[in-house]
Amino acid sequence: MGGTGESNRELVKDLAPSAFFRFFAEIADIPRASGNCGAMGDYLVAFAEARNLGHVRDAAGNVIVRAKARGTASTSGVILQAHQDMVANKIPGSGHDFARDPIRFVREGDWLRADGTTLGADNGAGLAAILAILDAADLVHPPLEALFTVDEETAMTGALAVRAHQLRGETLINLDSEDYGVALVSSAAGATHSLRLPVLRAGGAEGPLGRVVIGGLKGGHSGTEIARGRANAFVLMARFLADAAARGVGFGLCAFDGGPVPVADNAIPSRAEAVLMFDTERRAEPLGRLASEWETVFRNEYRVADSGIRVSVAAGGGPAPAPIRAKSRDRLLAAIRLMPFGVVRFARDGEAEKKPYRDLLVETSNNLGSARLETDAAILRTLTRGSVRSRLEETTGRIETLAKLVGGALRKENHFPGWETAHPRGRVQRLFADKGWKLVGVHAGLECGVLVEELRRAGRTLDAISVGPDIAGGHTPEERLRIGSVEPFWRDLVATLAEL
Ligand SMILES: [Zn+2]
Repeated sequence: MGGTGESNRELVKDLAPSAFFRFFAEIADIPRASGNCGAMGDYLVAFAEARNLGHVRDAAGNVIVRAKARGTASTSGVILQAHQDMVANKIPGSGHDFARDPIRFVREGDWLRADGTTLGADNGAGLAAILAILDAADLVHPPLEALFTVDEETAMTGALAVRAHQLRGETLINLDSEDYGVALVSSAAGATHSLRLPVLRAGGAEGPLGRVVIGGLKGGHSGTEIARGRANAFVLMARFLADAAARGVGFGLCAFDGGPVPVADNAIPSRAEAVLMFDTERRAEPLGRLASEWETVFRNEYRVADSGIRVSVAAGGGPAPAPIRAKSRDRLLAAIRLMPFGVVRFARDGEAEKKPYRDLLVETSNNLGSARLETDAAILRTLTRGSVRSRLEETTGRIETLAKLVGGALRKENHFPGWETAHPRGRVQRLFADKGWKLVGVHAGLECGVLVEELRRAGRTLDAISVGPDIAGGHTPEERLRIGSVEPFWRDLVATLAEL
């Protein structure tokens, strides 16, 4: 891998701060896609050993490196945190192998990006900053614990495995933010549920088949993009099919899912497909006309937020499973239409009253991430987020009530804790605010929330903040780091460490 490593290092050698960019180029050589952090962990252990720094690697793969205070008598420890893994995404046709190949840098003006892949600035920028701090001989700082977690991008399994006794620090600086000058100081809790609705199939039914596809939706992240008001493909499909049934189009529902597009609890669904069995040959054509009427309705409703919606009906196809009975079908469509979707409530505090609508923080939301018809049941999966615990519980309570009303059962699958705004502000938050940083909350889960909650359960409070340089296009092959934002970010970070 020498060749690429050399050219990456060559490309950043004139950039400042030089230690940051030297480590940023060095870790670009190390494969570290989520689920594959072994080599990165080895690198961190070797880094600590080469510098005689205390270190542990826990069973989850998290690495903690300790450094003594330098140039200060402060004994109150600071935890610096970044995640080892990166999202593995590339352009179609790219031959990049994330298990083996180094990331190749490309410089474009003030931006550093990769050649057809994610750059790994999320969270390579955080890793490089911490390594540069631990490597420096001239920085003033209190006792440091560098916490390098694994697999943040999939399910935060690394952060969730950290136990309070592993950490001594009283302050947490997480380096996984993507906006220079804007620090995160609160995050939302989340809960995933699956609603299982038993269905009965009408055995022996026969008839011509048809396929309905609703596509062209933008989708997006169910937390940070939920306020954009985009459509949910499953909800549109349920509205369309319920209307077709109400108008007397005789059809049974054989299959219902997202089609070939992958679904995820934390993604707004962008496509829905249904396979129908008609009672007579003459149904596909009128249903096609109804589809174009609904396409017009949907495009009008979403003309700003989601303007490319398509609804299409095609006759034929097969073979298909037997259709579910009309009563099962109507219950499934009702459950999808009644499911809370999108923003349930915006945060309204004194500050929010003065803000323009687009700047409001979402307080509670729900995403119906997948809806799938199996042999004897339909499975609906939801991810509910909220920064006020009681309102999040009220929303999941409504989903539970809905499940009962339609004859289904709700199961809680997963939960991640929120990070509530500290009143009054902690010291590290005030130090960044004093340097002109805006302190904001985010409607998504952060590792900070997980760590703050773990220490809270152990009776300790953690003064926490999340900061970083400018990164755009995260999680896509467009991911890029704004070179000019690194120096001021670095300056504020090391100044804050000296003040702590
Ligand atoms: Zn990240």
